[in-house]
Amino acid sequence: DEIRKKCLVIPDGSGYDTSLFTIPVKYADFLKSILIPNGLVKDRTHKLAVDILSSVPNTKSLVVLCVLKGGYKFCSELVDAMERYICSCEINMSIKVEFIRLKSYHNVSSTGEVEVIGLSNLSHLTGKDILIVEDIIDTGKTMTKALELIKQYNPNSVQCASLLLKRTDKSCGYVPEFIGFSCPDEFVLGYGLDYNEFFRDFPHIGVINEEGIKQFAV
Ligand code: 5GP
Repeated sequence: DEIRKKCLVIPDGSGYDTSLFTIPVKYADFLKSILIPNGLVKDRTHKLAVDILSSVPNTKSLVVLCVLKGGYKFCSELVDAMERYICSCEINMSIKVEFIRLKSYHNVSSTGEVEVIGLSNLSHLTGKDILIVEDIIDTGKTMTKALELIKQYNPNSVQCASLLLKRTDKSCGYVPEFIGFSCPDEFVLGYGLDYNEFFRDFPHIGVINEEGIKQFAV
């Protein structure tokens, strides 16, 4: 219920017929449905930008930590919208953007260990107000571990914005502060999210079909 109030819920079983959208030829035969059209992703992101800025009124400077690779499109749209809002509302705030990758190691008991790579010196985060921007939270294990690690550097505050939150029984209970959409427990791709590096360049968020899983398998 709390999640329902925080984000746009994409119900189980929803999805638009792919024939109703323009689809790149290379992906045309390999999609089951379009779950969230590009325009809706952007409209929702613009509202998240306003929500985020309203929640940090005294911050002069915000460090946005974009989690690569999947978060790049969402982060770009979000930061653009935040900059527009800062400008039009004459807010005295600066946004710095850093890029990280989270490398997960899963041992047999599946207690994930996470390493942050890309940011040479995490001590840059000490005392800062940080917004982590992620593409999707599935079990939540990756973000839980990443937060533990980042908090060791004593930032002033850490919040997380995720474009998608998957409804799954495997969730560890972690819920980000800002969520674009709650989505069904399916493998989603597009708008930065990949399947073996394919589909990142697909503009909508969609669901792959059986043929696609075979076609783009490694
Ligand atoms: P978690 O640790 O929350 O289970 O997984 C987080 C990461 O798994 C995400 O950052 C993403 O890279 C990947 N992931 C989880 N679900 C999906 C999905 O449905 N599609 C894609 N493309 N990646 C996913």
